[in-house]
Amino acid sequence: MTTTEIKATATKYIINTYGERQLALVRGEGCYVWDADGKRYLDFLGGIAVNGLGHCHQRVVAAIQKQAETLIHVSNLYYIEPQAQLAKTLIDNSTMDQCFFCNSGAEANEAAIKLARKYTKDQGRTGRFEIITMEHSFHGRTLATITATAQPKYHKGFEPMVPGFRYVPFDDLDAVKATIGEQTCAIMVEPIQSEGGVNVPRPGYLAGLRELCDAHHLLLIFDEVQTAMGRLGKLFGYQAVGVEPDILTMAKSLGGGVPIGAMLTKAHIAESFSPGTHASTFGGNPLVSAAALATLQTILDENLTDHAVAMGRYFTEQLLKLRERFDVIEGVRGQGLLMGLILSIDGKPAAARCIENGLLTICTMDHVLRFLPPLNIDESHIDEAVQIIAKSLAG
Ligand SMILES: *Cc1c(COP(=O)(O)O)cnc(C)c1O
Repeated sequence: MTTTEIKATATKYIINTYGERQLALVRGEGCYVWDADGKRYLDFLGGIAVNGLGHCHQRVVAAIQKQAETLIHVSNLYYIEPQAQLAKTLIDNSTMDQCFFCNSGAEANEAAIKLARKYTKDQGRTGRFEIITMEHSFHGRTLATITATAQPKYHKGFEPMVPGFRYVPFDDLDAVKATIGEQTCAIMVEPIQSEGGVNVPRPGYLAGLRELCDAHHLLLIFDEVQTAMGRLGKLFGYQAVGVEPDILTMAKSLGGGVPIGAMLTKAHIAESFSPGTHASTFGGNPLVSAAALATLQTILDENLTDHAVAMGRYFTEQLLKLRERFDVIEGVRGQGLLMGLILSIDGKPAAARCIENGLLTICTMDHVLRFLPPLNIDESHIDEAVQIIAKSLAG
């Protein structure tokens, strides 16, 4: 099918929650994707931080092929070998003790929200169910996670919201302090807000949240749906920012492209999810677990976390050089390979021009071009991206 044909069919039969899209993509290889008309793009959006190893990585493809021929799905009524191996590998490489598997970021956060409430109740701290979340956060699109997401645009029309969430500005410890009360059970935060504009908190903020949680017996939940799996330069974002949460959620790049989410936590907290309290039919099924295991082992074997640090540094330097040529560039924010180019102009047409010129990116919060390239890019990909950005800003 041509782009025009795909678009006509999709528009007619798929509910229009995503609006009109510029492209129909049909094939990918490494850092590149091709549209239905054969045009190639350098993918610096990575399926929104999902394709951490790029497209169709050989080890992930091989693992999926092998698993598809062996066993695709059986449900969690049975033990699943690749799921057990994936869990062990995640835990061996973190300071957490156990995990729960689901299918998406929103579900991982739902699990975290439920666990925080249940654990708090099990501790005898009844009447405490409120979770403090941050303005400009993004936690997903289920009812509980849009409520956790402190952005009114995601609530509109879906009221009433789920009870038990309080909002404070991001990167403001005093606001958190003032909001902790008799009913608080947890604080939930992205170590770096991505969708909210690539917002990096000041040094000491996350450590300050940790201290507040310890002082008030609250759980600290890190939503690492976007920052886990090497994106910030360590396997998990919490390792990169040096603050340990009690509960950690992940999804996007966990499966190397297949849908899988996970929540990791400490043993004493995990106990509150006793048999029958939480479940997922698909969660961590053989196919997605095998894909995630291959993804994780590739990141570890190839030390892509250190590589992400080096590439992030190089990318930042090149983007900062562009600032000398374009005064619409206000700055660069981010860590590792979660990067935002801050513009003084409307970012939407700038992003559209980048795409026309062969670079996939997205504009967030009106002024920020967001880049989430695969961890295994090299300098030549960054040079190519920067050239396209320059050309697009000049236009
Ligand atoms: C994408 C995202 C989610 C939601 O994940 P889904 O898989 O779309 O449900 C939650 N939190 C953060 C930080 C995200 O980036």
